[in-house]
Amino acid sequence: MQLKCRRVWRLSAACILLASAGAMTAFSQSNTVLYEGARLVIGDASAPIENGAFVAQNGHITAIGRKGSVKAPGGASRVDLTGKTVMPALNNIHLHAGYEGFVSWSVENHSAENILDHLEREAFYGAGTAMTMGDQPADFAIKFREDQLAGKFPPAARLFFAAGFAPPGGGPDALLIQGTTPLHAVNEVSTPEEAVAAVRRIAARKIEHVKFWVDNRDNTRGGMKKMPPEVYTALIEEAHKHGITVHAHATNLQDQKGVVKAGVDVLVHTVAGEKLDDEFLALLKEKKPYWTPVMGLGDRSELCDGANPFIEQTLPDSVVADVKAGKTWLPSPPCSAPISAQFMLREENLKYNFPKYIAAGARIVLGSDAGVSAKYSYGFAEHHEMGMYVRLGMTPADTIIASTSRPTEVLRLRDTGTLAKGKRADFIVLNANPLDDIRNTREIDSVYLNGARIDRAALQAKFKQALVDRDATQAKLKKDYVPHPPSSRKAEGL
Ligand SMILES: [Zn+2]
Repeated sequence: MQLKCRRVWRLSAACILLASAGAMTAFSQSNTVLYEGARLVIGDASAPIENGAFVAQNGHITAIGRKGSVKAPGGASRVDLTGKTVMPALNNIHLHAGYEGFVSWSVENHSAENILDHLEREAFYGAGTAMTMGDQPADFAIKFREDQLAGKFPPAARLFFAAGFAPPGGGPDALLIQGTTPLHAVNEVSTPEEAVAAVRRIAARKIEHVKFWVDNRDNTRGGMKKMPPEVYTALIEEAHKHGITVHAHATNLQDQKGVVKAGVDVLVHTVAGEKLDDEFLALLKEKKPYWTPVMGLGDRSELCDGANPFIEQTLPDSVVADVKAGKTWLPSPPCSAPISAQFMLREENLKYNFPKYIAAGARIVLGSDAGVSAKYSYGFAEHHEMGMYVRLGMTPADTIIASTSRPTEVLRLRDTGTLAKGKRADFIVLNANPLDDIRNTREIDSVYLNGARIDRAALQAKFKQALVDRDATQAKLKKDYVPHPPSSRKAEGL
């Protein structure tokens, strides 16, 4: 049934349910598996297990150790992974789901089906969770998460989301704001009192993350004023009273100092226009925030460097051509453009600043910022980002920790992130060892989420011909997932 739906790819709610039921049946028929012979990269600071073995039962790891020391229950099937490396699934705490539609970028694309598609693309490349940042109507995101947890969708990365905060008319970049504004996805606050009241409404809905934007661009649009420290300080203090994790978008040194000083939990972006100073490094040392650098969107596309089967395998050919020609929704130069002086300066600053953030104690966490450009999109962006961490000075081992277990600290998720007894069987089987070379995270043999092997071939076929039937399918699902109506916005304050 799942295959039939995929082939037609006219995804209706009924089809989703049938696909899900099919996946669950397959899952329950082979619910105990012994995987043996692979190198196991645990995902925390512990040493890898060479020639390892682990048992996955009912979607969870029930035993793990060296091959021969791990006994499987009677009736378990065996999978020989000799020569492979297994690492935990990636966890991505920063992207923007819902608006990208391969050949278009629009609020019209925003639907449950499209978000599911993005989460499938994440899963295809090995991600088990993905958090969409400040860009969803809350009722929509809450319902999607409930439905996903209830098993109503096919296997995909689990969605998390943060409620967004910005000054009136500000916040998201020039593209993303075209989606968030009609959906009223961002809480617009001008004063500390408004910020506190909006956080209380968020807390009442049991939303665990918020993101706010502080950006000079807001001085020229909307309320003509970027979010001032007194507003975000009140926002952070109130959020912490309710146990809410706060992420702050800030892109220059002054603003990063401000938000770290105010106690933000997760600092988003990397200062790339100037060099870090001692005052900021002392602040990082004192506060030790989590830090999501999200740098790769500013890089040249890897598609400019010649054939790239890793990326091209999920993009329709027309999209590959568009990226190379610079025809991306968020403006980016074509591959033929010379490297600019500005780009070289950015590179120099990143090389100087990145190791300093780490040395000062910023706790790096994987985030991709996928969702605003096809050149840096779902799933493959994580692998580029991890490559940047290593290029800028981190070890592959630390990069893997930053991309698997540490994000689960931010997500407050105890059931995934490492290969360990009791965790979900969320893992990637690789044909090469990423501890030798981080690019080996791209040598994906297979991906398992909750013990179920992701059908990557079926997904790939769907992605490559994704232009077919998109409009019809989206129109259907919108009936079930009505975006936030403007009239109710004041009442709900979201
Ligand atoms: Zn972002």
